[in-house]
Amino acid sequence: MSRQRLTILGATGSIGVSTLDVVARHPERFKVVALTGHRRLDVLEAQCRQHRPRYAVVVDAADAKRLASALADIGTEVLAGHDALEYVASLPEVDAVMAAIVGAAGLSPTLAAIRSGKKVLLANKEALVMAGGVFMAEVVRWGATLLPIDSEHNAVFQSLPHDFDGDLHSSGVRKIVLTASGGPFRTTPLAQLAEVTPEQACAHPNWVMGRKISVDSATMMNKGLEVIEARWLFNAAPEQIEVVVHPQSIVHSLVQYVDGSVVAELGNPDMRTPIAHALAYPERIESGVASLDLFSVLQLNFEKPDLQRFPCVALAYRSLMAGGNAPAVLNAANEVAVAAFLDGALPFLRIADVISAALDTVPVQPANDLEAVLAADEHGRAAARTCVEFFRKRL
Ligand code: NAD
Ligand code: MG
Repeated sequence: MSRQRLTILGATGSIGVSTLDVVARHPERFKVVALTGHRRLDVLEAQCRQHRPRYAVVVDAADAKRLASALADIGTEVLAGHDALEYVASLPEVDAVMAAIVGAAGLSPTLAAIRSGKKVLLANKEALVMAGGVFMAEVVRWGATLLPIDSEHNAVFQSLPHDFDGDLHSSGVRKIVLTASGGPFRTTPLAQLAEVTPEQACAHPNWVMGRKISVDSATMMNKGLEVIEARWLFNAAPEQIEVVVHPQSIVHSLVQYVDGSVVAELGNPDMRTPIAHALAYPERIESGVASLDLFSVLQLNFEKPDLQRFPCVALAYRSLMAGGNAPAVLNAANEVAVAAFLDGALPFLRIADVISAALDTVPVQPANDLEAVLAADEHGRAAARTCVEFFRKRL
């Protein structure tokens, strides 16, 4: 069997590290061709020493110089910049690309992988939220394969018929149900939410993740982004996608069929399961994750999301209903607001206000090409920055 050749975008992050953990368990199956990272260059260096990729890519030229001299003895070629990210995402010698850069920065390299007809393992949900229409059209046009890494969407993918062709109705699907843990503030008294710190917001009860997605989980914007992600991945109408809070994160999502059947994927909350699933698909491989011990699962609880507490979920539905560029504006404003919160420049409860203000400010327009998407991203960011500045003056 020839080995699957991989580019891992965002190798130094939480998903990247989990991906390399799975890859290292199967040296006969996988060969790493390129690794990319932005900060944590020591981690990238160690990863290169272990996996011996042909290329390593960083964002800054000065970082590339430093890394190149550190790696001189192993012959990994170090490249810098956005063009280099696109380059390693589209190399002819690469079969599959793990898209695990966080945020809008991942859009262009992920699109480059799609346009090269790769098997794309999609963790970078923000790219799909921003540019869903463009993205899915390019997948068809270039014959790329898109496999979801997000645990909920991977669970839905596993719970749909194997030959699902994008028509939920003809597959007998009534509803897609995305589970949400509710994050660290599910039961925190509302009065305390105004004061929560980035450290508290990043302390997720079930999953260890990057800081941006951890804050998204605390506001539940993560679930909002995932609703939009599901809209595109499964060609689902907004009313076919439901969110249910499930604090144990054991049921990773469910599909309800017209005959009353509900099919779900369950397991321990560890991203190596969806990563291994997508890497080996349609085969199954060891991921390092222990099987779920049903006898230790004492309870599986399900609750309706509290939209008062988590206005970001409603904002995401609002942008999805508005369509066009609105999800790109939502995503951009969220990235700005979360970064400001992490910097101590915006109170937690203001994150939703900033996003809402950006959606009010930027007019809804079609977003049928990348230009329109990038313009929406820019306008969303500008509107959000103005709003953050307004709140900062009142701090
Ligand atoms: P992370 O912050 O841990 O890692 C992000 C990676 O992207 C790092 O390698 C970083 O160096 C790189 N990066 C950041 N900014 C960049 C830039 N401007 N240019 C190039 N590279 C850049 O994030 P994560 O938790 O691994 O999440 C990655 C993606 O996967 C996100 O889109 C997130 O929503 C999604 N996701 C993560 C999880 C999880 O459990 N961590 C689960 C589902 C989906
Ligand atoms: Mg998820």
